[in-house]
Amino acid sequence: MRLVVVGAAGRMGRTLIKAVAETQGCVLSAAIERPGSPAIGQDAAVLAGLPAGGVIVTDDALPAFVEAEGVLDFTSPEATVAFAGLAAQARITHVVGTTGLEPGHLARLEAAARHAAIIRSGNMSLGVNLLAALVRKVAATLGTDWDIEIAEMHHRMKVDAPSGTAVLLGEAAAEGRGVDLAQARVAVRDGQVGARPAGAIGFTALRGGTVVGDHKVIFAGAGERLELAHIAEDRSLFAQGAVKAALWGRGRKPGLYSMADVLGLDK
Ligand code: NAP
Repeated sequence: MRLVVVGAAGRMGRTLIKAVAETQGCVLSAAIERPGSPAIGQDAAVLAGLPAGGVIVTDDALPAFVEAEGVLDFTSPEATVAFAGLAAQARITHVVGTTGLEPGHLARLEAAARHAAIIRSGNMSLGVNLLAALVRKVAATLGTDWDIEIAEMHHRMKVDAPSGTAVLLGEAAAEGRGVDLAQARVAVRDGQVGARPAGAIGFTALRGGTVVGDHKVIFAGAGERLELAHIAEDRSLFAQGAVKAALWGRGRKPGLYSMADVLGLDK
């Protein structure tokens, strides 16, 4: 499968280039960066710490998409909606790992998904998607007298909070409870905030060092606590998940899919 990596010089971009090179049946057909990026003109494989492969990083996405079958996109929300429009024009599978998307971005992805398959997930790992299924089940089983708190920690360079994975887990908890996360979400506490609102789903974001991604979902009841956790040790697992999603999406009819669809996990 011919794959384009956008945001090729980023932490995930470089990891994706390596994952594509290591996956049988996949080939890197192009690598795209933001106009003006110092990575433009460099060999993509070298950026990823591999021997030169002859694919030179450019900022010209559409011709690259037209020649490809899929695009792997871990960039920024604005870049992702622009790439979704181009992937829809080229009718290629678009794998979106970008987090921090607002409802306006999601609406634009839904529009693009009328023309091409988009697979979007705040976390591409098997472990987190299994964790989400467990969280949905536990939240459905326990009553609202059990408080739900989601704690996450990431490296100091991360720009959005709470993490896409924390939101994914929060959505699973809300689904389990049959409520809307937007109504239940409490993501900021500072000062005299008063007692915890009943039914709230709380988020805490820690930032520091080089942490790839730690998540814990805490169900706190009267006198007991249940904690479900996931620790990502290496971002290559997200990249491998993204490549797997692209292969799954090849030739699939247009629509917006999730990693749970790719992994065949029950919702
Ligand atoms: P990063 O190192 O900042 O990489 C993002 C890259 O995208 C940068 O090289 C950036 O270039 C580039 N970019 C931005 N706008 C662009 C455009 N218009 N065209 C081409 N390239 C563009 O960040 P990261 O740590 O790799 O994370 C990227 C995203 O993936 C974040 O949203 C993160 O939360 C998410 N993520 C998701 C998962 C998952 O499993 N779903 C896992 C890890 C990370 P400049 O720096 O020059 O702007």
